[in-house]
Amino acid sequence: MTDLTLSGEEARVLGCLMEKAVTTPDHYPLSVNALMNACNQTTNREPVVAYDESTIERALEALRDKNLSRRVRATGQRVVKHRHVIDETLQLTVPEFAVLGVLLLRDAQTPGELKQRTERWHSFRSLDDVEQALERLAGRGYAEQLARRPGQKEARWRTLIVEGGVAPAEPAVAAAAPVVTVVEPVARVDEPVPEPAARSLDIRNPASGEPIRSVAVTEDGETTQKVARARRSQPDWGARPYEARASAVRAFRELLAAEAEECARITTEEMGKPITQSRNEVRAVLDRVDWNVAHAGELLAPRTVTESSAGAVGERITYEPVGVVAHISAWNYPYFVALNSIVPALLTGNAVLYKPSEHATLTGLRLVDLMHRSGVPVDVIQTIVGAGPAGASLVAADVDMVCFTGSYATGRRVAQSAAERLIWVQLELGGNDGAYVADDVDADTAALAVAEGAFYNGGQSCSAVERIYVHDAIFEAFLASFVDVVSGMRVGDPTDDKTELGPLARTAQLDVLDAQIADACSLGARVVCGGERIDRPGNWFAPTVLVDVHGAMQLMREETFGPVIGVQRVHDDADAIAKLDESDYGLGAAVFTSDRARAERILGALDVGNAYWNTSDRSSVRLPWAGRRHSGLGVSMSDSGVRTFLREKSWHLSG
Ligand code: NAD
Repeated sequence: MTDLTLSGEEARVLGCLMEKAVTTPDHYPLSVNALMNACNQTTNREPVVAYDESTIERALEALRDKNLSRRVRATGQRVVKHRHVIDETLQLTVPEFAVLGVLLLRDAQTPGELKQRTERWHSFRSLDDVEQALERLAGRGYAEQLARRPGQKEARWRTLIVEGGVAPAEPAVAAAAPVVTVVEPVARVDEPVPEPAARSLDIRNPASGEPIRSVAVTEDGETTQKVARARRSQPDWGARPYEARASAVRAFRELLAAEAEECARITTEEMGKPITQSRNEVRAVLDRVDWNVAHAGELLAPRTVTESSAGAVGERITYEPVGVVAHISAWNYPYFVALNSIVPALLTGNAVLYKPSEHATLTGLRLVDLMHRSGVPVDVIQTIVGAGPAGASLVAADVDMVCFTGSYATGRRVAQSAAERLIWVQLELGGNDGAYVADDVDADTAALAVAEGAFYNGGQSCSAVERIYVHDAIFEAFLASFVDVVSGMRVGDPTDDKTELGPLARTAQLDVLDAQIADACSLGARVVCGGERIDRPGNWFAPTVLVDVHGAMQLMREETFGPVIGVQRVHDDADAIAKLDESDYGLGAAVFTSDRARAERILGALDVGNAYWNTSDRSSVRLPWAGRRHSGLGVSMSDSGVRTFLREKSWHLSG
């Protein structure tokens, strides 16, 4: 590659951008390491380019135009491809190169991955440059120096820049600040929400962008205290007769039913779910609470396996609460997700620290308020408020178990942190469910049903239909009908009873949808309806259908989590099975056919936790909910979901 002459200023800007990718202290030295390499390149050079927003923006544009991802994907093995494409084909300019490096670094999910990607980043330079920079870096031992220095992040960074003799330190971070926001458009669907620097969470209405309220974030010290209080209160709660705990939960259920309309409105206002769907969720969660209250008691009863008698050792099993449970929640179904864990955890005698999503905090606070008013002791269920950092601090606190619902990327981090202390984790993660429409169904009926599965809650469901495969014989009829249904959806004010599609809950998701559509189109897809944002304040995206899609496109491989879907032809059932399984996620799959045996044959062949025949995007408290592979670990709902919160004790009774 030619033209790589980073100035000190560029290097610092790049460093700031890369710092955005740092999410744990472990990541930090690695990221700084990459920064230092950039700085090394610039020693003794005067600044040549000053980065500002428009420079970065132009670089992003240029990268898009160069169809980098298509070229990289078209060439098989990734690292080799990148090097080839960038060195020999793209001829990137300095800012384009820097932006690209940042984009790749932002994908890293673990220290190991960040390291790998950092190395990949080096590989974009001319090989001689890389070799020399690495040698110089090794001599200076920046990473080791950082590892030895405790203390505040920025101070460590600045000191090292000065010590490295690269550039004066003071204005570096501030000067780079505006640039950081510019890389947001490439945020991935499964990327954790950026840390709020402030001590309060500003909650905004996604339908208008207007502020609703600010809520104080729980600081780390408070989290520690809350967990300690939960630990002190748990033994008494756990020792109460089941009926005492159940009656508090029943009272909560009654209060929730009485205040259902207000609760639904809180959710609609803070996350944009159409009001009729918020009401449906509150109504449906009441049944889940009832089911748990009716069943958890019997699962706590001790079990005698063999009676003890002369010459035979008696065997018995008893069940005890796990202790202090952390529940970290997603926002998309805030009642289901929270209460699927909290209710069985409380009924089985555990104390719970509940961190609602930063996009459904008011709903979470209301739920806990209802519980306290219903007689659940204030220390037995407590709220932790905040975004990712508040969640990370809860996982690191003295809890016995973490129940997490969220993206695959965050789930892995949570599991890694929990592994440090060897505590239990339950992970309910993302999905990328496919639906197969066979040749023996009525196209119009199937189109309606599949559209419901794909667009309910704006497609923001872990088990939403995310990919549609249609048998050749019915493809045209299905597509015409499907596009009719989708383009006729009533998009608008989520507080209006008639609205079917509201805004997206998260602003960053708009960028993900843009990026997936751009990637698909660069690989040959066609938009047949929608395809872009709706131009009004708030997070609006038109319901979108693409055709001529295939499995190499992000749209088909990754979780979309929005009102955008691709429809692909398949030739027969075997083709459908192969394509339905073309995903790292394993939450569910749906088959639409008039032949139940055919559906069971297809669904039985798939590596998914939920099998849907002529339906989709459904969960039931009576059935286990257990995603496979990237969709999660452990089980919620059903008897198994209650047992999640119990530890077994085996008794060997002789005499
Ligand atoms: P997310 O991963 O961004 O956040 C989930 C929760 O984790 C939030 O409360 C967030 O504040 C917290 N968090 C972020 N970083 C953290 C960290 N480092 N340590 C601890 N906690 C951290 O996901 P989201 O946007 O809230 O939810 C959408 C995702 O959830 C989608 O992938 C969706 O498929 C998935 N989901 C899965 C299920 C399921 O049952 N499998 C249900 C609902 C949602």
